[in-house]
Amino acid sequence: MNTNTKHWSILTDVTKCIGCESCVEGCREANHTGNDRPWAWQNGVRDLSASRWTTIDRLPENHYVRRQCRHCISPACASACPVGALSKTPEGAVVYDAVKCMGCRYCMMACPFGVPRYSWDSAVPEVRKCVLCHDRIKKGEAKEPACTSSCPTGATIFGPRDEMLAEAKKRLAAKPDFYKQHIWGEHEAGGTGVLTISDVDLPLPMDVPEDALPKRTWAALRTVPFVFVGVGAGMIGLRFIIGRRNEIRAVEAEAKARQAAAAVAEESTEQSPEENDQ
Ligand code: SF4
Ligand code: SF4
Ligand code: SF4
Repeated sequence: MNTNTKHWSILTDVTKCIGCESCVEGCREANHTGNDRPWAWQNGVRDLSASRWTTIDRLPENHYVRRQCRHCISPACASACPVGALSKTPEGAVVYDAVKCMGCRYCMMACPFGVPRYSWDSAVPEVRKCVLCHDRIKKGEAKEPACTSSCPTGATIFGPRDEMLAEAKKRLAAKPDFYKQHIWGEHEAGGTGVLTISDVDLPLPMDVPEDALPKRTWAALRTVPFVFVGVGAGMIGLRFIIGRRNEIRAVEAEAKARQAAAAVAEESTEQSPEENDQ
């Protein structure tokens, strides 16, 4: 796939999914998201979380459906972010820049699919969600996202959106009495990069309007204090908040580096008697 010119997309076919969660673990490993932990603020460890960027919802009669950021064509999360910490790349992935984030969490309120999570347990919490493995693919470290390459049944596949849409339509046309004649993500919220087809109704929050949502989020944002008190005063506050978050982040990084250096020094001290014997 030419990753420079097409809108990247994932097509998930619920009828092929066996619920093995290889996609979940592939994502965790590739993105170093850490282990699931039962924090009080989560709806169970299998829900999307700061450490689980994609999950599998279990439906009756052995049906499983993948949930992740849908990489909306017009993402409400990016539109709601006052500092541009979430942005849509030319390839279609909606990515996050922790350095710009001031922690307001407007993105979490704006997302019509309830996707972004917050790493509450961190000293400098960040917004966490699927980023379509954008950096790894752009750098040439991977040809496709870890979730799709981990799937043993081809239930979730990666490609340009027009090709994924054509493939979905082909499958629906080939088995009209089997598949629900609907492609989840074709039109909802103005269309999404992640598409889903199924033989049963899905609990995906697809009752969102079909028009792009950013216009609505800006209408709502006008009512929040940040905009109300004036952009100038707001920006001074933002610079302080972002600066403070980055200072804490730098102190943490320095502490980690010191710990690592101390561990290396300790290890070499322990090894030296043996080396002396040799
Ligand atoms: S699903 Fe939510 S978090 Fe993902 S791009 Fe769309 S609005 Fe943003
Ligand atoms: S595209 Fe990448 S970040 Fe997103 S769910 Fe798949 S593996 Fe995780
Ligand atoms: S790896 Fe494939 S088959 Fe397994 S749960 Fe994920 S989408 Fe379903």
